[in-house]
Amino acid sequence: MDRRRLLTLLAGGTVAALAGCTRAQGDPLDTGSTGGDGGFTVPNFPTAPRLPAPPTGPKTQISPGTITALPGTGTSMALTVDDGADPAVVGAYIKFARDTGARFTFFVTAYYDSWSIHRDALRPLVDSGQIQLGNHTWDHADLTAISASAASSQLERAKTFLRNNFGVDGGPYYRPPFGRHNGTVDRVAADLGYTVPVMWYGSLSDSGVITEQYLIECARQYFNPQTIIIGHANAPAVTHCYDQLVDIIRERNLSMVTLNDVLLPPR
Ligand SMILES: [Zn+2]
Repeated sequence: MDRRRLLTLLAGGTVAALAGCTRAQGDPLDTGSTGGDGGFTVPNFPTAPRLPAPPTGPKTQISPGTITALPGTGTSMALTVDDGADPAVVGAYIKFARDTGARFTFFVTAYYDSWSIHRDALRPLVDSGQIQLGNHTWDHADLTAISASAASSQLERAKTFLRNNFGVDGGPYYRPPFGRHNGTVDRVAADLGYTVPVMWYGSLSDSGVITEQYLIECARQYFNPQTIIIGHANAPAVTHCYDQLVDIIRERNLSMVTLNDVLLPPR
């Protein structure tokens, strides 16, 4: 679907009916602008209540291999936020974390300016463990469509960026762009310490431009216990929905968690 057609559908309010909140869909092309530093403001969330602290029970030891959900029973929900095409949206997520205690994981596409622009604001939250970082490659290449050495360099370049700027490399967790990986990709990733491809159970469907109403619909469908949810820091809709997302999380007695809050990485 081209962008004009998509916008026409959005204007008609039919995109939700057309697309549905489909499960475990891929991670479509980033359509957000890479943006710049100027002109954006970080919104306030004065009415958002504090979210509960993460569970304090024992963590689950996992093995190398793909995960699509949190193992076991419980009330955790791992929101994972990808890409970072729009610096204003990354900034809003950081503010959301500060204001509400929300815990989540950014899968960083390292070439976007957002991660340098917001490094100083983000670093303390990474250090405290409230926000976790994972590897989402250097520039969002489809790792199954390039050579093994090119795939390796996609992950390695992002790894170096994360290490230099945030003191962590995101391992063992990585998210293959578009959700596309195979045996070769997994082997190359594992050689760099990324032994756990992180897929997802449900999507906020906001890799590109969608309506706020549709985003909330997707949250209502997918915010469930022990799920991994994918969202994107690419377009502003989500930044207008934080209060409603908090309401859904509280109504359902869910705890927002990072992967490290509930999982022990493979030994
Ligand atoms: Zn992505």
